[in-house]
Amino acid sequence: MEHVSLNLNVRGMHPSATVAINEHANALIRQGRPVRKLGLGQSPFPVPSCVVDALKLHAHEKDYLEVRGLRRLRETVAAYFHRNEGISVDPDLVLIGPGSKELMFLLQVAFYGELVVPTPCWVSYAPQARIVGHPIRFVPSSFEHRWRLVPEDLEALCLQDEGRPRLLVLNYPSNPDGLTCSEEELRRIAEIARKHEIIVLSDEIYGKLDHRGRHVSIARFYPEGTIVSSGLSKWCGAGGWRLGLFIFPPRLSWLLQAMEALASETYTSTSAPIQYAAVRAFQGGQEIERYLAHARSILAALGQHSAERLRRAGARLHDPEGAFYLFPDFEPLRDRLEAFGIEGSRDLAIRILDETGVALLPGEAFGRPPEELTLRIAYVNFDGAAALTASEAMPLTEPRGEAFLRHHCYRTVDAIERLCAWFDAARIVEDLPD
Ligand code: GLU
Repeated sequence: MEHVSLNLNVRGMHPSATVAINEHANALIRQGRPVRKLGLGQSPFPVPSCVVDALKLHAHEKDYLEVRGLRRLRETVAAYFHRNEGISVDPDLVLIGPGSKELMFLLQVAFYGELVVPTPCWVSYAPQARIVGHPIRFVPSSFEHRWRLVPEDLEALCLQDEGRPRLLVLNYPSNPDGLTCSEEELRRIAEIARKHEIIVLSDEIYGKLDHRGRHVSIARFYPEGTIVSSGLSKWCGAGGWRLGLFIFPPRLSWLLQAMEALASETYTSTSAPIQYAAVRAFQGGQEIERYLAHARSILAALGQHSAERLRRAGARLHDPEGAFYLFPDFEPLRDRLEAFGIEGSRDLAIRILDETGVALLPGEAFGRPPEELTLRIAYVNFDGAAALTASEAMPLTEPRGEAFLRHHCYRTVDAIERLCAWFDAARIVEDLPD
């Protein structure tokens, strides 16, 4: 009875893999199992104290705000993107929402057309399109192409059915692989998007976590057709605050208006105290720049250290460039893993959790073929507040070496060590004569 009443597009759906692994790991911990969490990708760092103070100061704000978002916040966001990304933004074309995930969903409800998703990709883009019944075209990339969209593949897809309305999602620095796009790659994609009139949803939620602090938006090269998506979750350590934003170009104001109508019929407006606090976050300044510089230097060092260790254990993977993810591919160990009955990434992730207690996600959850031996690691399991304090006591020019990481990011270093020891054991067996 219940089953038949479910919307066909929702039938058979499960909670998103990122959220599910976290809840599963927490349930195991409650049962007393020693689980090392590298599953959910959330910032380990605290919200900067000036932003927390702003939230306290505005806790009494209780009225519904404008659907589009607090005017002062939209102005501050416009100034911020102008200053930081060199793109000109009209505050009237900024839309604030309760997390960029919700805004992406409303965009899919409002937009008519095909969703184009390069893979590997974040777990929720495609399920959102499925819920609203839109066609999805995955454009697979490969390790050899640094998991980046190959512009020629995008062009080939457009030529199959010219003139079809399309929405391309680009995420850089990227979840799940921690790599970003070069200016050259962005220019090339922009050229194709312009030629075929593709709308680009540029998911730049990790932009401020480019490890070198040199993020460049595709909106610089394709301003008329790019919607920039960002928020507070990753760079400001405020995932649970749920504040996201979209920036529209004037040509796409019709989409903003449609989304505004949908927002007014669903969540009404975003939490008022959080919007006031977000004004402080986007005002930036020395305290925030310092916080970001230290957060980046810790993430860069930990990502690099973990990537090197994983390579020694037999994985192939690129050095991380941003965010806090690694996407190792254990293809070089396929024969050995198959001998253990492991046929794909899901088996691999389950066996690792069972046998090492390390919780991570299979590449399959990120749109990769099930037989591929890729995993996503979120290297965020450490006390970010303590690590920041320790980092702030050191000059930024000094590397956060192994001793720093072992001391201040211990839980992640230990989890990577256990994971690699498991693969090392598999390789030792391989090296034994038959
Ligand atoms: N984006 C984060 C992740 O990939 C967590 C939040 C989410 O997926 O909604 O783990």
